[in-house]
Amino acid sequence: PYYGLSPPFYPTPVANGTSSSRWSSAYQHALALTSQMTLLELQNLTRGFPGPCVGNTGSIDRLSIPPLCFYDGPSGVRGQELASAFPAGIHLAATWDADLMYRYGRAVGAEYRGKGVNIALGPLAGPLGRVAKGGRNWEGLGSDPYLAGVGMGRIVEGVQGEGVIATAKHFLLNEQEYRRRWGQDAPDGEGHAISANVGDRTLREYVWPFMDALRAGAGAVMCGYNRANHSYVCQNSKLLNGVLKTELGFEGFVVTDWDAQMSGVASANAGADMVMPRDGFWGEKLIEAVKNGSVAEERLNDMATRVLAAWLYAGQDDGTYPPVGVAPGGQLPDPVDVQADHADLIREIGAAGTVLVKNVNGTLPLTQPKFLCVYGYDAIVKSTPWENPDRYGGGYDVNRGWTTFNGTLITGGGSGSSTPPYVVSPFEALSHRIRKDRGMLRWDFHSASPSQQYLNADACLVFINAYASEMSDRSALSDAFSDDLVLNIASWCSQTIVVVHSAGIRLVDPWISHPNVTAVLMAGLPGQETGNSLVDILYGDVNPSGRLPYTIAKKDSDYGHLLNPSTGQEEEGGDPFFPEDVFVEGLHIDYRFFDRHNITPRFEFGFGLSYTTFSYSDLNIYVSVAPGVVEEETTMMPSLAATTRFAKFPDPDTPIIQGGHPDLWETLFVVRCRVENSGGKYEGREVVQLYVGIPASKDEEEEEEDKETPVRQLRGFKRVGPLAQGEDGEAEFELTRRDLSVWDVEMQQWRLRRGKYKIWVGASSRDLRLSGTFDI
Ligand code: BGC
Repeated sequence: PYYGLSPPFYPTPVANGTSSSRWSSAYQHALALTSQMTLLELQNLTRGFPGPCVGNTGSIDRLSIPPLCFYDGPSGVRGQELASAFPAGIHLAATWDADLMYRYGRAVGAEYRGKGVNIALGPLAGPLGRVAKGGRNWEGLGSDPYLAGVGMGRIVEGVQGEGVIATAKHFLLNEQEYRRRWGQDAPDGEGHAISANVGDRTLREYVWPFMDALRAGAGAVMCGYNRANHSYVCQNSKLLNGVLKTELGFEGFVVTDWDAQMSGVASANAGADMVMPRDGFWGEKLIEAVKNGSVAEERLNDMATRVLAAWLYAGQDDGTYPPVGVAPGGQLPDPVDVQADHADLIREIGAAGTVLVKNVNGTLPLTQPKFLCVYGYDAIVKSTPWENPDRYGGGYDVNRGWTTFNGTLITGGGSGSSTPPYVVSPFEALSHRIRKDRGMLRWDFHSASPSQQYLNADACLVFINAYASEMSDRSALSDAFSDDLVLNIASWCSQTIVVVHSAGIRLVDPWISHPNVTAVLMAGLPGQETGNSLVDILYGDVNPSGRLPYTIAKKDSDYGHLLNPSTGQEEEGGDPFFPEDVFVEGLHIDYRFFDRHNITPRFEFGFGLSYTTFSYSDLNIYVSVAPGVVEEETTMMPSLAATTRFAKFPDPDTPIIQGGHPDLWETLFVVRCRVENSGGKYEGREVVQLYVGIPASKDEEEEEEDKETPVRQLRGFKRVGPLAQGEDGEAEFELTRRDLSVWDVEMQQWRLRRGKYKIWVGASSRDLRLSGTFDI
């Protein structure tokens, strides 16, 4: 069910700004500039030069075009002084709050702008999290295209709302670090990157979150290091010319990942617009290729025009954009302080993305405890002199020589890591808090089996973590040192609270059912305010509402072939020089895989507890009759007659705009329900989730394809509240044409199915409280 070969798609569509009036005026202006440029000047805009930033384009002084500055990464301006360390993408996703996602983008964007960075190298939805041990899943927004898509859209909106160009990356199918690029991990350093081989329908699953980023106006897309269907993605014409620039109407520019370019003429003609960080196979050679006709002059014009159009679309030409104030290593005289009040938002998101997965015997929230014990190196910023660089990373910016081993984990490693101005460690925040109650702490940050037992303690907090970094996938989803530590404390402490900071999935089965492990928090990668965010949750100042953005299995093997990155060689006598990975599971990653194979996870996708309980009622489904207008039908399910009018396909006469066919965003149904805080005394927020079951096709030929449709897919979520005890609130979901369509391989279009759609609304992918149906 996969191409194996990536079909050719030529030539590159010439962008002209038809998506909106804003794009259109950006293009008019950009074309006026590029029409005056020499080949050398055009070329200058398509490549990197040495400079203060991670990437720097050439400038054209006579036309007042400055060099453009690119900087990492998704969770804040990396490696600079007086800039914030925001929670990682995976942590933000765990909030399931579209508004927080937007505010995150806005704040991150403001910091980029303040530092004079033109182009932020984020957000990220590739990897999507297909591989449980994927080394970069934490930079992304959870293992579901819908959740990641909302995140991508809202972050781009926020970042670009500050006038900074957002780069959606890595396009596409960059799902593992092992052999992610030419030579890496290959025998003797020779060998091609892994090829992600997918079918046409599966492909759209990975494209999905990028659609949202584009729809929100993303000005740049980064193509990755890997191959897809045997073709390097930065020279894959099907992906760049076909999917991105035709199907999705992309008006901005495609920048290669750093040193990801593998050819000159081929990458230019396949739709890459800029090479980084130097001239790669272009530079003078690109001009030569234009002169000898291997690359059309129109293509070079289009590359440069796209770059300028994105710059103009973002409004960076008006003379108010701050000067570049970044440098490798961050050391500049008088660095601009861009932190503003972002610490408050970081703290808020830190708490909102913390997931409570176990809480028995009324352990949490703590009520004025007098005596707490704290264990594990993850409770403090740095644990010296005991260091074990092999196994336990503390995060922070590894690539900049500032690695903190065995300290509290607030970020992962590599280009997406952050460089905090300070870290409020869990221990520090607990110290401040307990002194208010004139209480006391005892601690041991080093030992796996602390000998002293404090039988008077109210509770014991055990901090463990799980690190991940770019360049390599994770070797394990747990480690023995940490599991032993939990078990040792739980052997005598009857209220053992485990706090897990992790760059993705962390298995918990060795101790989760231990009767003395009475509360467990999956505390993610919360950024610089980590301790404050945690104490807000522990003491009940914030009622947890975070939900898992991935599935935690009972054991490794439950993830099946999705556990490990593919080595691409052992399987079926594959050639180690050309490693490949066939995405045989199709659309069934993460919870869909567990649903399909009837595997009970330890904690399912979407799961998370609160200090209160919520009851769900009054599910109503409305047909949308016109934009913003729903049918006046309050108690019944919509009738067949009302809905068969929806054409199967988007209107073929409507032009594509950036993000895809505009009809895909048309709301067809509105679903509403009520949630009530039915618990004891705590006010709280509930993340209400909507899952859709798309009906089977009536077409016999499509029977095979139908087996590929997951029973349930996330298609809506809403963080409702805060609701006081007894108070109720409404959750409203808009289901768009895209939400209800399947990708039709024959027609190369999204298509509605005729038949009965199932709707479930609930508190997780398995805790489904209400259900309904409608026909199309
Ligand atoms: C990463 C990108 C990053 C770039 C620049 C690459 O190795 O894959 O995500 O933006 O480096 O630092």
